[in-house]
Amino acid sequence: MENVKLRNGVEMPLEGFGVFQIPDAAQCEKVVYEALAAGYRLIDTAAVYLNEDAVGRAIKKSGIPREELFITTKLWVQDAGYENTKKAFQLSMEKLGLDYLDLYLIHQPYNDYYGSWRALEELYEAGKIRAIGVCNFYPERLADLCLNAKIAPMVDQVECHPFFQQVEAIKTMEEFGVQIEAWGPFAEGNFNIFSDEILASIAAKYGKTTAQVILRWNVQRGVIVIPKSVHKERIEENLNIWDFELSDADMKTIAGMDVGHSQIIDHFTAETAKFLNGYKIHD
Ligand code: NAP
Repeated sequence: MENVKLRNGVEMPLEGFGVFQIPDAAQCEKVVYEALAAGYRLIDTAAVYLNEDAVGRAIKKSGIPREELFITTKLWVQDAGYENTKKAFQLSMEKLGLDYLDLYLIHQPYNDYYGSWRALEELYEAGKIRAIGVCNFYPERLADLCLNAKIAPMVDQVECHPFFQQVEAIKTMEEFGVQIEAWGPFAEGNFNIFSDEILASIAAKYGKTTAQVILRWNVQRGVIVIPKSVHKERIEENLNIWDFELSDADMKTIAGMDVGHSQIIDHFTAETAKFLNGYKIHD
């Protein structure tokens, strides 16, 4: 496992474990425990996943010293704004059973995220959060926030996999010193990614699986990955990517698979803004 150094000097693992779409508390606790036992140290949850308390229980049960862990959670759209963000952060910390957080992200570029950002800056300066960032901020919104914030985001978590490689977004992130983190590193299992012939033929050359090649390609270009699985053998398989290196030719072949836009969610439509603003996680 390798780490990457964020702009503020904080070390973040290049690979972690994501827990989106594991709403069942017992299952979530079990798989996070298994992931930690397998060697993952970065866990990526969110208030909207409704499983922060299960993640918290698995962390406690693991017995792993707090300083060895890197825990991320996210602020939901409904809780945007300065005051709401402070409250939502406190609630997330209680559910996780933590007294500080490694990374807090604004989950979506909607609602009063400038108000939220001021709250994140204060929590960061007070030492409650080691790094702050955003998700799904495409170049124009990311640049605007970086230009106007007192503290620019350290991380932008965006969809990123062989079919959508975020070439333009990465250029903007590099300009502002923002680390990219990939959500949906397997395109959420869509588009027959695991049976793709190009990826399978590359995998065969290295004696690796298609899943391992997909993850290796991203970490090899400096992109943090947070694959999700509820299967112990896949959780272990997905971590076993640190003993091989893809050749430049294979990296280029995968670069050629980019379609250049999301086929999962389009953040540039009014429908998406309306849907995510309307998605409530509490009264
Ligand atoms: P993903 O990790 O791209 O894909 C998960 C899918 O791949 C599941 O169906 C899983 O099935 C399958 N899978 C995992 N490992 C496999 C393997 N080795 N072989 C075959 N199939 C495998 O999708 P994701 O969960 O959406 O994304 C990862 C994390 O990113 C999330 O958990 C979440 O933490 C984060 N995320 C963030 C945002 C955001 O807006 N910030 C959005 C989406 C996700 P099984 O579980 O059945 O094994």
